[in-house]
Amino acid sequence: MLRPLIQMWCQAMSNAFNLIDKLAENHSLTLDEYKILIENETVENAEYLAKKALEQRHKIYGNKVFIRGLIEISNICKNNCLYCGIRRDNTDCSRYRLTENDIYECCSEGYSLGFRTFVLQGGEDSFFTDERLCEIIRNIKHKYPDCAITLSLGERTKESYQLLFDAGADRYLLRHETANKEHYKRLHPENMSFEKRMQCLTDLKEIGYQVGCGFMVGSPFQSPLTLAQDLKFIEEFKPHMCGIGPFIAHHSTPFADCKSGTLETTLYLLSIIRLIDPKILLPATTALGTIHQSGREMGILSGANVVMPNLSPFSVRKKYELYDNKICMGDESAQSINELKSRMKKIGYDIVTDRGDYEER
Ligand code: SAM
Repeated sequence: MLRPLIQMWCQAMSNAFNLIDKLAENHSLTLDEYKILIENETVENAEYLAKKALEQRHKIYGNKVFIRGLIEISNICKNNCLYCGIRRDNTDCSRYRLTENDIYECCSEGYSLGFRTFVLQGGEDSFFTDERLCEIIRNIKHKYPDCAITLSLGERTKESYQLLFDAGADRYLLRHETANKEHYKRLHPENMSFEKRMQCLTDLKEIGYQVGCGFMVGSPFQSPLTLAQDLKFIEEFKPHMCGIGPFIAHHSTPFADCKSGTLETTLYLLSIIRLIDPKILLPATTALGTIHQSGREMGILSGANVVMPNLSPFSVRKKYELYDNKICMGDESAQSINELKSRMKKIGYDIVTDRGDYEER
């Protein structure tokens, strides 16, 4: 009775190991193979994946960890994404917008702390016109020519992306959220479309940005198939960066009662994504640090190579609440960079003062 079960278990394990070997070698699997790998998330497979992911990460980036100073410029958003705490219809959210000077002060503090990438992230706030953003980008670039600017400001027209790029922006993060059209519809209101999001990503790539896509792990209605589609999309789109972190419910959203994504699945997927592209810039996200106090170290040990400490002014940090209990004051704070350095040191990694670009070679 027990023997066939043990045989089946051994078979499943060796199948998954074969798939992991294949992924490590070819950086590609079929959609079905990705799905099998996702359905076979076991401790043994996760350990094997992480080992392979770290081997490849070390060949490209050694034990370096890149840092990005995250400046949350506005929590005002015209969108109504069902999962997001700063969605338009959340009337409990206390809204703010940084001034130009606030942003420059964040950069100045960040620069002296050793940050060489500034990420300007925010809701889709129409105050930030192309003109205003170009001015901000030009001023930051003028003062810190050795720094990269990453934007994460949602969907804009191709013309707008081009203007921001011409003004000096280097990278753009726009999570695709899900590569399954039906799933996308269930996470977003009717006026947002899967096609538009994908078009934005294509536009950004064509313009010449280093582009980041990504998704939430464990978002409502996600399945092994939609996750496999996410992985296949990443393999084919070839982003320079990929942001994944667990979905965490926000109490004032339609998904308030949905359960969060898990630490284990997020780590498992980080390792898979590292094997899809050994050079990818892969953050151990704040959401990962929120669901587990060592989440970011575990992310690094699963193949991530970037952390994004918070550089926003203390007075607004709590207001950029995408999900409940988001960490923003402790070691994830840019001001605590020394604590973060020693936490990384303890696991054998070095935070470096570097733009941390995608390794094209
Ligand atoms: N407005 C920009 C955009 O749409 O790309 C940037 C800000 S948006 C809030 C940044 C990311 O936060 C989203 O792409 C989403 O994946 C993530 N996010 C939003 N709500 C979340 C939640 N409840 N749990 C985890 N991540 C969440």
